[in-house]
Amino acid sequence: MKYKVMDGNSACAHISYMFSDAASIYPITPASTMAEKVDEWSSKEEKNLYNDTVKVVEMQSEAGAIGTVHGLLQTGLVASTYTASQGLLLMIPEMYKIAGELLPSVINVAARTVSTHALSIFGDHSDVYAARSTGYSFLSSVNVQDVMYMTLVAYLSTFDGKIPFVNFFDGFRTSHELSKINVLDKDDIKDLVDFDLINEFRKNSSLAKKQIKGTTQNDDVYFQNIEARNKYYDEMPNIVNKYMEKVNEKFGTDYHPFDYYGSKDADKVIVAMGSVCDTIKEVIDEKEDEKIGLITVRLYRPFSIDYLLKVLPKSVKKIAVLDRAKENGTGEPLYLDVVNALNTKNIRIVGGRYGLSSKNTSPEDIYAVYKNLESDEPVNSFTIGIVDDVTNKSLKKEKIKIKSKNIEMLVYGYGSDGMVSATKDIISLVGDNTGGFVQGYNQYDSKKSGGVTMSHLRIGKEPIKSSYYVENPHIVVCTKDSYLDKYDMLSNIRKNGIFILNTSKIIDDLPDNVKYQIKNKELKFYIINAHEIARKNNIPNKISTIMESAIFNITKILPYDLAINKMKESIEKKFSKKGIEIVNNNINAISNVSDSIIDVKVPEGWSKITYKEVKYNGVLDSISHLKGDDLKVSDFITHDDGTFEVNTSKFEKRNIAEFLPCWNTENCISCNQCVLACPHGVIRPKILDAEELKNNPGIKTIDVPGKPDLKFALEFSYDDCTGCSVCTSVCLGKAGNKALTMAKNEEVDRINKRIRGVKNKHLYPETIVKGLAFNKPLFRYSGACAGCGETPYVKMLTQVVGEGMIIANATGCSSIYGGSMPSSPYNLSWSNSLFEDNAEYGFGMGLTISIMKEKIENIMTSNMDKVSDKNKKLFNEWLNNKDDYKTTKEVSEKIDYKEVPELEVIKDYIPTKTVWILGGDGWSYDIGFGGLDHVMSSNENVNILVLDTEVYSIKVVNHLRVLEKVQLQNLLLKVNLHLKKI
Ligand code: SF4
Ligand code: MG
Repeated sequence: MKYKVMDGNSACAHISYMFSDAASIYPITPASTMAEKVDEWSSKEEKNLYNDTVKVVEMQSEAGAIGTVHGLLQTGLVASTYTASQGLLLMIPEMYKIAGELLPSVINVAARTVSTHALSIFGDHSDVYAARSTGYSFLSSVNVQDVMYMTLVAYLSTFDGKIPFVNFFDGFRTSHELSKINVLDKDDIKDLVDFDLINEFRKNSSLAKKQIKGTTQNDDVYFQNIEARNKYYDEMPNIVNKYMEKVNEKFGTDYHPFDYYGSKDADKVIVAMGSVCDTIKEVIDEKEDEKIGLITVRLYRPFSIDYLLKVLPKSVKKIAVLDRAKENGTGEPLYLDVVNALNTKNIRIVGGRYGLSSKNTSPEDIYAVYKNLESDEPVNSFTIGIVDDVTNKSLKKEKIKIKSKNIEMLVYGYGSDGMVSATKDIISLVGDNTGGFVQGYNQYDSKKSGGVTMSHLRIGKEPIKSSYYVENPHIVVCTKDSYLDKYDMLSNIRKNGIFILNTSKIIDDLPDNVKYQIKNKELKFYIINAHEIARKNNIPNKISTIMESAIFNITKILPYDLAINKMKESIEKKFSKKGIEIVNNNINAISNVSDSIIDVKVPEGWSKITYKEVKYNGVLDSISHLKGDDLKVSDFITHDDGTFEVNTSKFEKRNIAEFLPCWNTENCISCNQCVLACPHGVIRPKILDAEELKNNPGIKTIDVPGKPDLKFALEFSYDDCTGCSVCTSVCLGKAGNKALTMAKNEEVDRINKRIRGVKNKHLYPETIVKGLAFNKPLFRYSGACAGCGETPYVKMLTQVVGEGMIIANATGCSSIYGGSMPSSPYNLSWSNSLFEDNAEYGFGMGLTISIMKEKIENIMTSNMDKVSDKNKKLFNEWLNNKDDYKTTKEVSEKIDYKEVPELEVIKDYIPTKTVWILGGDGWSYDIGFGGLDHVMSSNENVNILVLDTEVYSIKVVNHLRVLEKVQLQNLLLKVNLHLKKI
């Protein structure tokens, strides 16, 4: 056995690479890593089973990727691809073709939610279910180790049985979970591979022999031709079983198309597939006296009733089938399959939904499913993991405590502070350097960065089955003290647990509830000022390795000397190209850690503190305090179509910046470059007259040249600042002295935090940066990465166009920072459809506007002689300015609608809106280029802004971190160009 720590995506890519001649890829979360790994190995010229380097091509869309796969297969090359969610859906038409033509191949899927009322990058089975009728075989894995073996079984079986495979596992939960697994290498699997079958596939290709494929058939023969393929589906379960047995024999595993686990005389059984099966096993182990069991579905298609019956205990009276998807208006797919399979048996079967969009499914939820089966009338079509107080379909959690010997750790990091990598490092170091087992899973909130990350780590002596969050940690680590005011981090920590906090505060300043928990739970409490250590060692803000070193030092999960030596090795590897100084700075920083850890003596006085229950106010407030899981179905009744209020990010006040800009008035030339460049809309300029100054006493101002009665001031929304320091780098200042410098958050005076009631004086033309900056942005405080290079453009666009904009936004970075729950940074109508259809989506909006404009025009013209003079004047004003939002809005408010009732019903269309189609280069130049091309060739009045990072942005979030001065100067010009009607 060769154990190594890796995630599900890597395990899958590892096997897939060995079998493939070529891979045709298009990235989509959470499957991207598979394609990236294959691409990386290909560029290193690593060899596959045929001793060749895999040829990798990146296409313009998933439809393109699978089209290429089809062509490769038709000509005899073993071709693979990797996808999820909408990506898999885009492959469906081609999948029918590939399966119909019996072309053996594998699509590897990190199963992910399909967009409905909202997009979700997280995992469930809605994508694989949507593709289940394509004629592919479907093979499912429970955990990372399974992925290694099942990927192997999929490739072995497809060449034997000719039917192509969807090889799937749970997105994020399995694709991104780090686990210590047995890794197979080429020599391990070579003797399992029947190379004759692969050669036979090549010999049947259109290159090897003359043939015609993909003909047109009519009603006389099409049907019979389809039925001629039945034998392949009849045979496939046996073929899969054959290869599973070979794998079992060779590697000591125990796989079958369906696997049973639990009591031999079980009367209650759950049928499920995917990662939840490991949680179910934990519940069964814990309740070993109960007659309960689990059937894990591995081969989902073809669904073999024979193999299901082989493992189903005779004693079973009731079955609950769990589906990780929702099928509206009928039962869920797996439930229907089981009902169909067992319709001659006297068994009560109910179905239920769980884990949609990676919703955590705990042992308590699973135990509730067994308890439900105890009832004479078990609830059917139930849900677990949520509280449905509307249709009352949810089962109440049933208390169960899993006795585990694992060490459990929960690390709260600040998005992009490096803690996710640090925890991955911890897991790898412990896993690779001890005989024990590890599990690491990272949970993110929806902010691109600057949000909370929670790393759930487990370390134990046995392979770890807990496929759910760490809910009762021994150790809690927090890298950002301001989180303590916002998030409840310690309510679930175990008694006598360890709490490690990175802070510059004195402990007296901690929130009372935190002090209460520390004292009451008798926690061991350690603090460290990682930012200070980082600064002293010239690696400002780079706290992750310092925290990693502190965690090893305090928790002793690995001998500290070993851990620190390994960390030093990895620093040398990582930074050696950047020079010895950087290497030394990093090494010094982690070496200083032991002296800087303070073992806090918890003051006696803390025992007198009382705990104050915190109440959250509605959906947005709950989500922003990480309490979204507590919201009930009834909380969404008024949002059932996924609609939420705009302009709500201003309420978040995240206060996440370690450093804030300080305004040095004597160096300021009021150029407003900082205002324009601020990616988060935090800085705004104001020009105040005497009265306005009186209403804002004490604020810092400077003179306005040539206007002795007026003063210029910059307003800084410090609580919304991310501390990116873009403003300081663009600041022109005076004679080489900057007017903006970064200072420690707590040392900034915040005098100019809020400047109220100031009118825009329009002193400067809006066509220059200085003047435009005074326009109120309709896009502020987004969840974009600190220093984002895209958001200044978006913000500026809203300043140029102003009220009356409506945005159609392609899926991508801009839809994540623009439309992630809980808050909206836009103060205008914004919506997102898909990644691939944005041009057409915006085009549809543009059509509506034109159609309604024409209709209004007709009504006004035909009624001109019948209405009063007042309305006549207004109608003419509208007709002469029908493209101008401001005028048409004013007109709409003044019309006497009693005279034209037909106009009243379409009143909201009278103010003319402007459509902006906005998205990244992935949408516009790759997947959506056809739509974009077509829309641009139409005569419709729509506007398009492409945010082109020229790279796959998720991978290079910091690519455009700092706006160069020259870019700033070109910015206005570009936006003006874009504003021209296309
Ligand atoms: Fe003043 Fe610097 Fe901002 Fe220009 S960029 S307005 S000089 S603070
Ligand atoms: Mg891009």
